Amino acid sequence: MKFISTRGQAEPVGFVDACLSGLAPDGGLYVPEAWPRIEPAQANESYVDIATRVVAAFAGDELEEETIRGICTRAYSNFAHQSVTPLLQTGPNAFMMELHHGPTLAFKDVAMQFIAQFFDHALAERGQRMSVTCATSGDTGGAAAAAFAGAEHVDLFILHPFERVSPVQRLFMTTTGAANVHNIALDDDFDACQSIVKELFADRDFVAATSLSGVNSINWARIAAQAVYYASAQAALGAGRPLRFVVPSGNMGDALAGYVAARCGLLAGFESVCAVNENDTLRVLFEEGRMVRASAVATPSPAMDISVPSNFERLAFEVSGRDPDLVRQLYQQFAQSGDVTLPERMAGPLGCSGLSARSVSSAETHREMARMLEETGWLVCPHTAVGTRVARDLEPSEAVTVTLATAHAAKFPETVLEATGREAPLPVRVENIASKTEVFERLSPDAATVRDYILQHQRA
Ligand SMILES: *Cc1c(COP(=O)(O)O)cnc(C)c1O
Repeated sequence: MKFISTRGQAEPVGFVDACLSGLAPDGGLYVPEAWPRIEPAQANESYVDIATRVVAAFAGDELEEETIRGICTRAYSNFAHQSVTPLLQTGPNAFMMELHHGPTLAFKDVAMQFIAQFFDHALAERGQRMSVTCATSGDTGGAAAAAFAGAEHVDLFILHPFERVSPVQRLFMTTTGAANVHNIALDDDFDACQSIVKELFADRDFVAATSLSGVNSINWARIAAQAVYYASAQAALGAGRPLRFVVPSGNMGDALAGYVAARCGLLAGFESVCAVNENDTLRVLFEEGRMVRASAVATPSPAMDISVPSNFERLAFEVSGRDPDLVRQLYQQFAQSGDVTLPERMAGPLGCSGLSARSVSSAETHREMARMLEETGWLVCPHTAVGTRVARDLEPSEAVTVTLATAHAAKFPETVLEATGREAPLPVRVENIASKTEVFERLSPDAATVRDYILQHQRA
């Protein structure tokens, strides 16, 4: 199977190249040239069985099925729950899908554990090494550190804003003890970290010298790995039964994975609501057909404090009828003016895509966390609470509502305490992180300093 760019000016590449490179060279995002048909999951298939079939459908003949099975088996052996993403009944016709049983208690583990095993395998086959970098406001960095720790062919460089990530999030990044995981704390905010990463990628000589790659949510491997739990939910709740998902959203990677699962035939039907916080560009996109640049505001759900949801570009490509010229024009105009209206050719199909978005205020998020505790006895993380709040207001439906729980409450103990008055203790399996030694390097926030650091610390 070949992968093409949403902006149409890059050569089609295979699955391994699309995933190893992340972004397409024309600035677009990779999508499969055609949607594969994948048989819906069966109730008697294990998570690894389903993951193997889904990845195999995208990998085509590039990877042997047994190789994929080995990668998935290693990736999902690090989860605390045998079903990897278990479902919990929350009411009549309503479930929560818990995505936080991985090593760093957030849903990012589901894809990152797969990516690390997959990259290490693909690079070993090619006799190559790679440097992977990511800027993080919290969860991505920890998930990447846990996943790539000890990888033989990858050196990982995580950039986080010094003293601006939560203590628990920082511990997951800084305590792996692995020589190939490098944490860089920059004396600036998350946006500065992200723009330094962008500057590094714009330096073609540097990218070539370090074989630099990224693992943020535009990487197709993340989307493919996340489509798996939608398929497994459908199998668990009954083949053919209509489901409606509520997905706490930021960059829209998670929500897009549901759309992809549906396009590949893994779901009986498709309806999914992106639940966003006060950073509500997605709601404006769906409701008004306008893409507006805004600066992100801080909310109790920081992993969703995103102003430009990067995976929307993949959906834009689909609803344009796969017209890369239209997508390229749209994003060029957006880059210039920061405010574009979707042409009717896109806005119409967007309304029929099965996706929509609703937003929840910070005050409502706090109230929802308290209400969940009262009604069910559960502490939910603030991101999950944005989802459960949206789920409450959905119109009654035949469909089973499945709200995605994207992180464990213990990852955000300060917010949980403020909203509910309760402590959110770490699960036993990770409680030792607090006593481990933290390793990170504090650097001044400029691209040249970071570049030198990477050049000095990557393995030859
Ligand atoms: C990253 C993250 C999200 C948002 O996911 P996207 O794929 O970017 O939409 C939601 N909740 C948590 C806890 C996260 O870490």
